[in-house]
Amino acid sequence: MLNNIKNICVFCSSSDYLDDVYYKDAKELGRLIGQNGYNIVYGGSTLGMMWTCASEVKNNGGKIYGVMPQRLVDLGCRTDNCDEFHLAQGMRDRKQKMDDISDAVIAMAGGFGTLEEFAEMCIQKQLGFNKKAIVLLNTNGFYDDLLKFFEKMIEEKFANNYARDLIFVANTPQEAIDYIKNYIKPEKTPTKHEIYSR
Ligand code: AMP
Repeated sequence: MLNNIKNICVFCSSSDYLDDVYYKDAKELGRLIGQNGYNIVYGGSTLGMMWTCASEVKNNGGKIYGVMPQRLVDLGCRTDNCDEFHLAQGMRDRKQKMDDISDAVIAMAGGFGTLEEFAEMCIQKQLGFNKKAIVLLNTNGFYDDLLKFFEKMIEEKFANNYARDLIFVANTPQEAIDYIKNYIKPEKTPTKHEIYSR
């Protein structure tokens, strides 16, 4: 292994009502995570792409680390199949825990939950709070419009060219895993110039 990445945090949809194309990629990603010797950190639920991906990690020899707030446990969302389960107070400390115990991040297609989790990882990296590999897995071109919007942010100087290096856009689960396998952590923390120049 080129790096010490072991635990991959996966953010993705909790919906059970999506087109099959999304579950197919979630399953494929789970398989690759397990078969390549990684574990998954995720929301700990039995729902949607989250469970499709996590259960496949387990089926392929990886461990499942779930992090969920009490409110969602009370709603009956928790799976009993986690190798480690961490109970959180709310959505914010849950994210902190997921960050603490993971070495890399993959965001798949999702709704507000996924978008918020992904965006927070980006700003943490942009400002130098972490140096993790962040992958956006663009299943079915789901994020094409968001990627256009990111370009608009750069064009209109809300972000700079360095922002392009924050994330890797993968078109397939295999590309996502290959990127993580070969990821080299940047040695230095971003300078003020790198963050704020336009
Ligand atoms: P969404 O994209 O809105 O479906 O939200 C999914 C994301 O939010 C996942 O990456 C989870 O980390 C978190 N999340 C949303 N709902 C749940 C749930 N019922 N149990 C655990 N995590 C959840």
